[in-house]
Amino acid sequence: MDSPVPDTYPETMSQGFSPLPDSLDCAAILERLPVALALIDPGNGQFIRSNEAFRQNFGHPAQPFPDWWKRVHASPRLPDTPDMCPPPPDGNARDDIESDMLSIDGSPRHLRTQARRHGHHLLLCFVDLTDNDSRQDLLRQALAEMEARSVTDPLTGLLTRRRLEEASLSEMHRFRRFGHPISIIIADIDHFKHINDTHGHPVGDQVLIEFALRLAGECRDLDVLGRYGGEEFVVLLPSTPLAGAITLAGKLRLAVCRQPFAGVGSVTASFGVAECVSKEDWNAWLTRADRALYAAKHAGRNRVEAAPESAFDERSIKHRNRLDRLTWEDGHCVGDPIIDAQHQNLFELANRLLNLVREAGPPAEIHTTIRALSDATRRHFRDEEAILSSVAYPRHEQHAKAHRVLSAKLDALSGQSAMGTLPTGKLIEFLAYDLVDHHALGADRDFIPWLRRGPRDPAPTDD
Ligand code: GH3
Ligand code: MG
Ligand code: MG
Repeated sequence: MDSPVPDTYPETMSQGFSPLPDSLDCAAILERLPVALALIDPGNGQFIRSNEAFRQNFGHPAQPFPDWWKRVHASPRLPDTPDMCPPPPDGNARDDIESDMLSIDGSPRHLRTQARRHGHHLLLCFVDLTDNDSRQDLLRQALAEMEARSVTDPLTGLLTRRRLEEASLSEMHRFRRFGHPISIIIADIDHFKHINDTHGHPVGDQVLIEFALRLAGECRDLDVLGRYGGEEFVVLLPSTPLAGAITLAGKLRLAVCRQPFAGVGSVTASFGVAECVSKEDWNAWLTRADRALYAAKHAGRNRVEAAPESAFDERSIKHRNRLDRLTWEDGHCVGDPIIDAQHQNLFELANRLLNLVREAGPPAEIHTTIRALSDATRRHFRDEEAILSSVAYPRHEQHAKAHRVLSAKLDALSGQSAMGTLPTGKLIEFLAYDLVDHHALGADRDFIPWLRRGPRDPAPTDD
């Protein structure tokens, strides 16, 4: 039923009516979609592309779009349509037009026409309302499938809301399994409606494109940037605790407000930041970030606000009792002056490290402190093993093995801190639980009777 392209058409024109290429993600679906689609150049009104449903209904229009629109509507066989004006070629109008048109085989069709800007073009979509409901269901299904497949936002090229959600869910899974912190930033342009109202929608679109570029310029390769809604963007930050996300949001804010936007001047944006905590789902997490954004708007815009909760706080509560035990007390002594002095020194280093992490101190200082703790721990293990061997502690080998496990964990944390990917929660867990609670105040109590034994005392028994 597809009409051949007339010979008289110029080469470029006939190419313009070729089917949409299959190489595009959604092109095959668009081509077969039972809804007529056409792409118009708003500069000269020429049809550039169309899909099969359009060609079946309307052939290959040679006229510019406004003339074609008049032709398909003007017939004594059609009722007078009050709205004979075509949708404006700049696509600003968002209202759909419902009207009767004549298709290429002369049959009247009752169509709803939607005009949408698509990059620099105008996309016309003709939904046929002539037939029955089942056809409408098919249409809805096909459109839903197309929507589901779209990966990037056509205006900015950023990820769509759906893809962003998918990426977030997989990062949340990693967070729950491995404890890697994750944060999100929501960015919303301030008074964007005013920009549209003052300079027009196409200029507003250019601001959105430039805004997206500026955000992308500040993000790391690992970060996931998407357009969440009209003038609302979301950045997902893997392996980033709240403090790091707040720093990045500050950089994003400056990247937006520092330089004027072409044709518009100064533009600012507000930012809400939240780190994921283990008990919440994606919606709860996003809602906290959104509340922080609202607070930033409320506090005067062009600023960053953070949701107070973080996985760090959550773990701190969980480990509060253990963290209290990081304070050195006389009761922690095992009875050997070397071991006790070294344990006390390890407690101090662990406390210093915890405070640095808690207050989001400089990563370089955190790393130096981890190295110092790591060196001191290694020295202590070596000395303690020598002492335990000299007092013939029977579980000496077992204890040395526990030291090796702790050393390996500390090495891994030190390596992660060097790469800037140190999971805060894991560090706290290691210091408070593994090193102090389990080992220094747990396993090490086991050899006390051997250390406190006088030269003539009998060998201690295990009960
Ligand atoms: P606030 O500082 O409180 O965020 O104010 P605002 O004006 O930015 O927020 P509001 O939500 O009132 O307006 C957002 C505007 O963004 C309204 C909508 O027409 C416009 N918009 C949404 N999507 C697009 C788009 O794709 N292009 C353009 N140009 N404008 C859009
Ligand atoms: Mg806004
Ligand atoms: Mg020990």
